[in-house]
Amino acid sequence: MLLQNLSLLALALGSYAASVRPASSEVTTLDASTSKELLALHKKLVDIESISENELEVGIWLASYLKDNGFTVERQEVAKDRYNILAYGSKRDTTILLSSHIDTVPPYWPYYYNKTTDVIGGRGSVDAKASVAAQILAVMGLKEEGEAKFLRDDISLLFVVGEEAGGEGMKAFSAWDKRPQYDIVIFGEPTEGKLVCGHKGILGFEIHATGKAAHSGYPWLGVSANDIMAETLAVLLELRQHLPWSEKYGNTTMNFGRIQGGVAANVVAETSSAKIATRLAAGTPKIIQGLILNATKEIKARAQKDGGDLEFDWSGNGYPPVDIDCDIEGFEKLTVNYGTDVPNLEGDHRRYLYGPGNIFVAHSDHEALKRTELEQAVLDYRRLILQASKMEPKQQGAGKGSEQFEL
Ligand SMILES: [Zn+2]
Repeated sequence: MLLQNLSLLALALGSYAASVRPASSEVTTLDASTSKELLALHKKLVDIESISENELEVGIWLASYLKDNGFTVERQEVAKDRYNILAYGSKRDTTILLSSHIDTVPPYWPYYYNKTTDVIGGRGSVDAKASVAAQILAVMGLKEEGEAKFLRDDISLLFVVGEEAGGEGMKAFSAWDKRPQYDIVIFGEPTEGKLVCGHKGILGFEIHATGKAAHSGYPWLGVSANDIMAETLAVLLELRQHLPWSEKYGNTTMNFGRIQGGVAANVVAETSSAKIATRLAAGTPKIIQGLILNATKEIKARAQKDGGDLEFDWSGNGYPPVDIDCDIEGFEKLTVNYGTDVPNLEGDHRRYLYGPGNIFVAHSDHEALKRTELEQAVLDYRRLILQASKMEPKQQGAGKGSEQFEL
C-alpha cells in the first residue's frame, strides 16, 4: 500500500507545473546568525560559475572556506584541474558522510535574491549549491547543539565534481584506495525537502546503422542507413510499451533524444545514428539490452545481407533502479525519475537522499528557491544526521537491490 501511494505521489508530482514551490512554512526556526552565514555561503557558491569540467575555482574557494571554519580539507584529483573536496574534523574515519556536487549544467545564470518575494535564483542555486551550503551549515552548527555535539567529529563532507556529466567525481572517490568506508551517507540533491525512497535506473545507448550511398533516383544501387534506423526505431517504439515496470517506480520510459542520418535528400544515406536514454522502473540494463537485441535481430540480419549493418553501443551509463533508505520518521517521502550519484558510491552504507528546492526548476533558466526552503534544509539535515546515527548499521551485502520486476 505504501508503495502504491508513492507511485501515485510521483504521478501527481509529474503533472504539476514547473514553478518555485511555496515552502510548507514561511518561517523557520533557524537562528539569525546561521541564516545570515547560510545566505552568504550560498551566494558565494552560486556567484562562482562551475559548469561541469570547470569546477576548479569554486573548489579552491570552498576548500579555504572549510579550512577557515575548522575542517581538515583534502583534495582528490579526478582529472587535470578537477578536484573532489573531502572535509572532516579531528578524525578522518567517520561514521557519517554528507555529500553533494559542486558542478552545474550550462549555461551560467547570475545569482539574485529578491527580498520582497524571498526568492533566491541563479544557476546552481537549487542543483546542488543549496544542498552544499545547507549541509555545511548543518554540520558546523552541531558543535553547539547538546545531543548532537559528539557527532560533529564523526561526520565528513564530500563535494564532488562532474555529477551532471556522468558522475566521474563520485566514481573516482568510490574507487580511491585511500578513502574511508562510511556507515551512513546522506546525498544532497533537490528533493523538495522530502526524503527519497529510490530513483529509476538508466540505460543510455547509441544505435549506429550503416549502408551504402547511391543516387536517390536509383535507390536499389545503395543501402539506406536511414531506412534501417527507421525500422529499428519503429520496433523500439512498440517495444517500449512492454518494458518492465514496477509499483514503486511506474513505467520504464525510452527517450529518442537525438537522431542523425544521411547527408542530403537526393542521396541514399550511408550512416545513421540515434542516442537513446531509457529510465528503468524495474529489471536491469542487461535485461533491457537483451529485449532490444532480440526485437531488432531480424532487422540486423536483413541489413547485413544487403551489405549494411546495425550496431548498438552500450558504453553509456547503466544501472538498475536504485532503492534508497527512507526509514526516518517526520519526513515526507517520494520517488524520483532522475539519476544521482547514489549508485556511484560503492559500499554497504545506509544511504539517504534529501535536499532543498524542486527538481522541476533545477536545469531551467528559472532555477530558484525560497530562502525558507534553504533554511529548513539546515534543520532537516541536522534531524536526519541525528536520527540516522541511531539506526543499526547495514548488514554486509544488504545494499544490493532486489532483482524482482514485473513485465
Ligand atoms: Zn544535481
